[in-house]
Amino acid sequence: MGIPAIDLPLEVGRFARALCFCTLAPKARRMYVSEVEFIGSFPSEERCPPPKLPEYAFIGRSNVGKSSLINMLAGRKNLAKVSQKPGKTQMLNFFRVDKAWHLVDLPGYGYARISKKARLSWQRMIWTYLEQRLTLQCAFVLIDANVPPQESDILFINRLGELQIPFVLAYTKTDRLNKPQLEQNINSFRQELLRYWSSLPREFITSAHTRAGREEVLNFIREVNAAFQPLPRKK
Ligand code: GDP
Repeated sequence: MGIPAIDLPLEVGRFARALCFCTLAPKARRMYVSEVEFIGSFPSEERCPPPKLPEYAFIGRSNVGKSSLINMLAGRKNLAKVSQKPGKTQMLNFFRVDKAWHLVDLPGYGYARISKKARLSWQRMIWTYLEQRLTLQCAFVLIDANVPPQESDILFINRLGELQIPFVLAYTKTDRLNKPQLEQNINSFRQELLRYWSSLPREFITSAHTRAGREEVLNFIREVNAAFQPLPRKK
């Protein structure tokens, strides 16, 4: 029996999330981030700051280059700590960018040397956040472009699909490869996804070293922000 294909959640309704998968023409102008404030680290979705601003969560396997990518996007050197001990940060780390949107740095997955208890608490924290956070527009799933498709990435992405959580992909460390190698690796990742998915998500080719992909990612966020509808105030 064939593997059932997962459809991208094009119409999730709740948060105008469908936009995450549209092709948005990148604008030719330079993107600046003028202010980034660290808001805090929170242990659970219910303790997070009030859901007022559009939000983007960044996640990937430990060592995928997440801290470097976040620093590169924010245009700061040490915003997210590069090479924190893998598996150590078990918090939802919130940054407010230009008073307009939240960047949420999520602890990475796929680190073998953590206890079962730590793994379960990670799963509860991450999936509750991703499923319930009302202002989450989409998750950026980071994929190391230098390695063959990893089971933990595919499992994570498939779970996002099952839960109808919108996401995009950001390939990282792409400066380490020449063009044909990069194309080959990205194609094998796409082929792996197509074993389960009926269409491919939006993707960004990034490098924290060359700053490749910065404008595309920031433009995408800006476009999604423009369509963001604030949640009605609680009575
Ligand atoms: P994290 O654990 O996912 O936050 O990953 P880090 O940002 O700490 O990066 C892990 C390692 O990959 C570090 O040695 C970084 O210098 C390196 N790295 C991260 N991004 C890039 C990149 O874009 N290009 C290259 N060549 N190395 C990178």
